Amino acid sequence: MPELPDVESYRRFFARHATDRVVQRVVVPDETIVRNATSRALRGRRLDAPERIGKWLICWTDGPALLLHFGMTGHLVWSGDEPERHRHDRVILELEGGDELRYRNMRKLGGAWLAHDGHEVDLVLGPLGPDALSIRRSEFLERLGRRRGGVKAALMDQTFVAGVGNLVADEVLWQARLHPKRRGESLGEQERTELYRKMHSVLKESVERYDFIARKRSWLSHVRGMPGALCPRCGTPLERTVAAGRTTYFCPACQAG
Ligand SMILES: [Zn+2]
Repeated sequence: MPELPDVESYRRFFARHATDRVVQRVVVPDETIVRNATSRALRGRRLDAPERIGKWLICWTDGPALLLHFGMTGHLVWSGDEPERHRHDRVILELEGGDELRYRNMRKLGGAWLAHDGHEVDLVLGPLGPDALSIRRSEFLERLGRRRGGVKAALMDQTFVAGVGNLVADEVLWQARLHPKRRGESLGEQERTELYRKMHSVLKESVERYDFIARKRSWLSHVRGMPGALCPRCGTPLERTVAAGRTTYFCPACQAG
């Protein structure tokens, strides 16, 4: 499922292939994928540099912005890599010169929206917290201080910080040695700082060196979800639980409750 590092890679992909190019035609086989408008408004528009907030991609143009959310299965495809269209291509931007940038999404979760200004962008995005990659430590700690309840639920709550999903949350908590069901208000000062530091470093390294959450041998993500997986740090068998409504892996030794 796309998380912040994936969507950041889509942002760069979009910028590489589509920025400064003009949309000649938009093909949307099923218009319901554009949730709030008609895709025709993008015809003839010049695409600007895209922006990412959390797991949202905001594709600015000299007209309306195209907002993309990738749900569980979405990604971007460029015709230079894949000449043939696919039946799961939901929004196809035909660019001047003949290339195509395609928003592909097998399951139709997520979708596309149009917004005519910053205010409309805010309305579509809803109450979104600061981006998890760019939030500063002081702001993170300040928000955490006002937060009650499970720490994994907080990380994954897009109104708390935007962009952290299930895999990133498990990795961050494992690296910070925090049990996923610890309550935010029970964390000491050092634990809070460590939580921020690990969230930042996991996202930064994933964005800079991979195009998804890193699966380094020394990281939880390398073994997470595999049968009989051992903690990469101490060798204890990992355990599975449900936290924040999601399947959660953790090390019962490193992340004592
Ligand atoms: Zn361990």
